[in-house]
Amino acid sequence: MKALYQYIKVIIQAFSSLLNGLLLTLKYFLTPGKSIITEQYPENRTTSIRIPERFAGELVLPHNENNEHKCTACTLCQLSCPNGTIEIFSKTIETEDGKKKKILDRWVYHLDMCTFCGQCVDACPSDAIQMKNNFELSAFDRNTLTRQLNRPDSRLEESNKQQKNTLAS
Ligand code: SF4
Ligand code: SF4
Repeated sequence: MKALYQYIKVIIQAFSSLLNGLLLTLKYFLTPGKSIITEQYPENRTTSIRIPERFAGELVLPHNENNEHKCTACTLCQLSCPNGTIEIFSKTIETEDGKKKKILDRWVYHLDMCTFCGQCVDACPSDAIQMKNNFELSAFDRNTLTRQLNRPDSRLEESNKQQKNTLAS
């Protein structure tokens, strides 16, 4: 008898929950207002779409107006990534005073393997990378999801050169 009572109770709760959901839908249908968070996408993609600033959609390596970035090619982001999404390639150059110096050659991001966990951003000691809230990232060709984030002929920001020298000394 107790089992039957429990069975009927669960059925009533299920219908009650369903009814609550339908009533809420009906309320929003009859009185649409600001509380509605669904987006009329893609119609509103250039007008009223709201993507939260903190939404982690894509990893970027910002460059300033002088085509400088903050990456010292330390590879900490690569080591911290659980998915092998990042490949840092560095090269050694000779400075004007004859010293050998390691600099960033290619910063490769495999977007198709990224889970947007942000561990690389947390691991970077130079604040060189950021998560952006871009979300339209699908592609027909998977190869296009492997990207080089450092721009052609970009170089290390002057302030970060000093930081790197301080850490090295
Ligand atoms: S966000 Fe996570 S998965 Fe993506 S590159 Fe960074 S550490 Fe790797
Ligand atoms: S992005 Fe940051 S952690 Fe990654 S190599 Fe550059 S400086 Fe190092």
